[in-house]
Amino acid sequence: MAHGTKLRVVSGCTGCSAEAAVLQALDVPFIVVSASEQNAEYRKFFLQNYPGKFQHVFCKLEDQLKEGACSLHNCEATCVSRSDRSNIDLMITGSPCDPFSLQRAKRFSHDGVKCHPDFLTTMKSVVSMYSLYEPRVAILEQVKGFTMPFEVGTTESPMDRLVGGRDWGGGMSKSLRNVQESKLTGCT
Ligand SMILES: [Zn+2]
Repeated sequence: MAHGTKLRVVSGCTGCSAEAAVLQALDVPFIVVSASEQNAEYRKFFLQNYPGKFQHVFCKLEDQLKEGACSLHNCEATCVSRSDRSNIDLMITGSPCDPFSLQRAKRFSHDGVKCHPDFLTTMKSVVSMYSLYEPRVAILEQVKGFTMPFEVGTTESPMDRLVGGRDWGGGMSKSLRNVQESKLTGCT
């Protein structure tokens, strides 16, 4: 934590905010500068369980990227100023696993992954989050299928596409290494 005394966290597709539970259990002081979660019950859950820890909470990852008014500050024109998004220590994203899951019958079919409606949430919106916040460390939570080939006849995986083949400059390469090394959790 190079800035202040609290770990500055950004969370996308937050769910019940497992990161808040872990940081609290480890007794790490933290503040979630910005979070996003589609499910209203989940939003209610983490706001009630971690009072004062969430500065701005958006209903969708795409809204979080636009930085308009969040669900906590409806009448504000904007919720995350430039200073708010600087010095982010940790970014955690748990974008939908559906396109990559081995549980899908079409997982390895031609364009089966790329044509899934949630594909761009990870491959575009999450990538934009890295560019916007430039976190010191990033954790991408995804399923095992994320590291497997897109389809029959190719070796490239969604993980390869996300991490490689891009001109990631400066601090981004460090963040992305951490993405690559991050533990894959959840279902398959
Ligand atoms: Zn706000």
